Amino acid sequence: MKTTSPITRRRFMNQAALGGVSIAALAAMPTGAIARVFQPTPQVDEPERVGVMNWRVLQPGVMAIADLSLGGNTMLVVADGKALLVDTKYAYLAGGLLKDAADQIQADITKDRIELTLINTHHHGDHTGGNAVIVPIASASYAHANALPRIRAQHEKYVQGAKAGPSQLARTDAPEAYMPFAKAAADASSTWTEKTAVPKIAINSSGHTLRLGDIVIKTQHFGAGHTDNDLVIHLPEQNIVHTGDLVFNGLHPYFDPSANATARGWLESLKQTRKLCNAETTVIPGHGEIAGPEIVDTQISFFEQLIASIQGEIDKGTAKEEVVKMSWDFMDGLGFEQVRERLIDGVYDELTA
Ligand SMILES: [Zn+2]
Repeated sequence: MKTTSPITRRRFMNQAALGGVSIAALAAMPTGAIARVFQPTPQVDEPERVGVMNWRVLQPGVMAIADLSLGGNTMLVVADGKALLVDTKYAYLAGGLLKDAADQIQADITKDRIELTLINTHHHGDHTGGNAVIVPIASASYAHANALPRIRAQHEKYVQGAKAGPSQLARTDAPEAYMPFAKAAADASSTWTEKTAVPKIAINSSGHTLRLGDIVIKTQHFGAGHTDNDLVIHLPEQNIVHTGDLVFNGLHPYFDPSANATARGWLESLKQTRKLCNAETTVIPGHGEIAGPEIVDTQISFFEQLIASIQGEIDKGTAKEEVVKMSWDFMDGLGFEQVRERLIDGVYDELTA
């Protein structure tokens, strides 16, 4: 569980700008300009980090964790003495998320309730694994209506995950600071019931708008895609979108037919999500690095090509066993290779249903 420091967009642009200067262009430049080109790349500030969990500050009051080894990407919004958390990763990390959120609003986590709102982007265990730690103390908790029974049904998995947390954590090079939270969740898990992790408020398909001080948080559902309960979280004023698992940045998307995943629906949800963005939007994907709207475009293109490629093989009469072994150009270089066959298998079934 290593913490690598991601290249910021600004640093990337600096490197790209330097790399783009040709010898011919240098020859044509006045001496002063050449000196400027050869000056060392200005040391671009690493993004500001806060809390036990090393949150990356995106804007004042908005922070996120995007680390492949730590489950689904989380977002924390803080305003007016209130906090909003999007997703809870795993039980062994949730205490750290809770402490950081509470510290941001100077709340006491030994109290029964704190001014913390939770939203789950969908029910998958790497986004809801810490719900049982957070839901009981949160002043409000939300998920799509279809997520609630699915979260309830994952009760045993949450308990097993929490109990395994400390030993799982000890086998990694995770920061020591996570361990007390992992142990506390393991201890508490014997008191959890089927209801503990279930958010209290259902969001239906027309979505929901919350306010945290001056910050408006819009939650929208665009139909089944990655699951039948995907929520996209949009902060219009801050121009930030958390896509949940509709976007896997640089990774094969995880396709889960048991959650009513649909490639066609996923594509439609992505197109609706893209409409929330302009060129400057910060996009927090479900997994992978935080970036701009180009990662939504890339995911749209991925699904368009995936559907066309699999349909092409179906039309040729290629057997499913052969198609699942295939890989196409648009998949080159993507991580999570282990979920590729499952993805093709699921989309093949969808297109032949
Ligand atoms: Zn997911």
